[in-house]
Amino acid sequence: MFLIAGISPKTKILDDIPRRCPLCGLAQAYFKRVDHYFSIFFMPVLRIKKGEPFIMCEKCEIALHELEEELHPRQAKGKFACKNCGRTLQKGFRYCPFCGKPV
Ligand SMILES: [Zn+2]
Ligand SMILES: [Zn+2]
Repeated sequence: MFLIAGISPKTKILDDIPRRCPLCGLAQAYFKRVDHYFSIFFMPVLRIKKGEPFIMCEKCEIALHELEEELHPRQAKGKFACKNCGRTLQKGFRYCPFCGKPV
């Protein structure tokens, strides 16, 4: 008897509306979340850990953690607010991922 069981991460796209990536400026960033599942024979059977949502750019392959930091603003460093929508952005962002306006 050979049983393959284990914990594997599974990436979930939370919405399929592309957002503008603050780094490359292309609308190819999506809200995603990585959940961890207990799986048997590579089939996820039970979600054991719910991940934090983040924005990941398909092109830059960089996860942007500003959403997490927006929930804990005291921990944020080097942040500034979008002049347009007031959301918290990271230093170095050229475009706001929430409203798509240049900052
Ligand atoms: Zn990008
Ligand atoms: Zn904005």
